[in-house]
Amino acid sequence: MKLVTCEYQQSQRLGVVIGDQVVLPSLSNEASQAPTDMLELIAGGFPALDRLAAVVDQAPDAARVPLESVGLLAPIPRPTKNIMCLGWNYSEHAEESALASNRETKLPKHPMVFTKSVSSVNSPYGEFVADAQVSQELDWEVELGVIIGRGGRKIAIEDALSHVFGYTVINDISARDVQSRHKQFFLGKSLDGACPMGPWIVTADEIADPQNLDLRCWVNGELKQASNTRHQIFDLAKTLSILSRGMTLAPGDIISTGTPSGVGFARKPPEFLKPGDVVECEVEGIGKIKNRVVSAPS
Ligand code: MG
Repeated sequence: MKLVTCEYQQSQRLGVVIGDQVVLPSLSNEASQAPTDMLELIAGGFPALDRLAAVVDQAPDAARVPLESVGLLAPIPRPTKNIMCLGWNYSEHAEESALASNRETKLPKHPMVFTKSVSSVNSPYGEFVADAQVSQELDWEVELGVIIGRGGRKIAIEDALSHVFGYTVINDISARDVQSRHKQFFLGKSLDGACPMGPWIVTADEIADPQNLDLRCWVNGELKQASNTRHQIFDLAKTLSILSRGMTLAPGDIISTGTPSGVGFARKPPEFLKPGDVVECEVEGIGKIKNRVVSAPS
């Protein structure tokens, strides 16, 4: 299923995309039987998904609206925990980062983990407000986002993918100057709106092999990043296993699994986002998000 959180008739609703329509269970007579919120759905596990599927099957015409008539929000507009992110998880990106920073390339022996604030979450087609007083070095990073379904601690590598609820597309927008100035990545990765996500969650059953998905990023229509998730240094199963060693993963947790090469700061000369730019990020089998950079009111 393709699951969205959207705005329709001034209400935030859970929806299921079918072709060019969205089924909104909240408009159905059967609504009381189905979850009405993405986090509630995820926490409810397979029984909740089954209830939702049943309601969608029987949804009257009144509960089916054109996809273009809803305003898509991030599938999880307000995660319960910071978005966990991997740094340098594609070797070519680790190499370009080291080169641009005059460091020797050392591929990580352990996943490099940082987080983005929940307040950085942005809609799949939302504007990103660039404030020149805050950063002059805004950069793009297309990533595969993983949504945890069944939580757990000390998750075994062999079981890890069974804990995945679904997948989404994330642009890990990064303020490079802020990121390096403050040593820890948190501030530079957590600007308001710096985590566009969506356009939906594709449930795990629809992605046959998450370790073989093309991912691409364009700025103003020009291809900047193109790779495949098979080039990840730490694959999803290993990442979930390591993250959960001492920290319980919970339903609805979001993990952004790193970006491939082609980011702006490592280009020669470096390129950064400016107002008017349009960034598109796509992951095969999931979809594409598109965000325009606008200037902050002075
Ligand atoms: Mg990243």
